[in-house]
Amino acid sequence: MRFKGIFITAVVWTLISGCASKGSQTEIYPIQDNPAPRLMARALFADAPDSLFVALGLNDGVPSSVCAFLVRTEGRQILFDAANGAEDSRLMPVLDSLGTAPEDIDYVFITHLHGDHTGGLLKDDAAAFPNAVIYINKIEYDSWISMDGNGRLQMIADAYDGRIVTFMPEDSLPCGVKALAAYGHTPGHTIYLLDDILIAGDIMHGVALQREHPEFCARFDMDSEAAVNSRKAVLQMASEGNLKVYGMHFPAPYHL
Ligand SMILES: [Zn+2]
Repeated sequence: MRFKGIFITAVVWTLISGCASKGSQTEIYPIQDNPAPRLMARALFADAPDSLFVALGLNDGVPSSVCAFLVRTEGRQILFDAANGAEDSRLMPVLDSLGTAPEDIDYVFITHLHGDHTGGLLKDDAAAFPNAVIYINKIEYDSWISMDGNGRLQMIADAYDGRIVTFMPEDSLPCGVKALAAYGHTPGHTIYLLDDILIAGDIMHGVALQREHPEFCARFDMDSEAAVNSRKAVLQMASEGNLKVYGMHFPAPYHL
């Protein structure tokens, strides 16, 4: 592909998913996990000049959120990330309001293993989604399991014993979900394409700044050069493919 190997597209339609045949409509439901509006602090974007923040009207910070996404497709219910799992998490109440019980979730696709994306996988140290299979990029999993200081990832692995699947982006995934490598934010940060929906994880932490200025990273990006390259490639791909881009830290309406 033209993105110089940043993206490796997964094989298209899966034979292993158990999903119903293609053709049913795909629906996506953003779930804002945080009850109150959030701002990413200006200080998180240390490389961006003050003049730019002033020009963009972002002196107080950049509007953001912590989101997960529920997708219904082919008779299956898929969660993309699981948010924070904090006391005031809205993940379960919103799922309930959508008529989805925790046991109804078939798959959880994880973009990366930061706590604000995986905290909701556990409830009282047990699997919050008792029937779900959890999909995690192998590079991401292997990176974190070897430096998982507090054992949180190991707890997740234990709770979902036998139901953690690690994959590489070219592997077939359920329901025709395609995994794309967008490394940089974390070693195996992965985004997902389903029809014209691109679930872009932490490709941007401050959309109002980074959409026009992808060259600036938030402090959270572990490899800033790779993160910038991935961010630029995602924006280009979205524009050329007319994709609807959803982000785990986009403010409402949670997509571009
Ligand atoms: Zn995040």
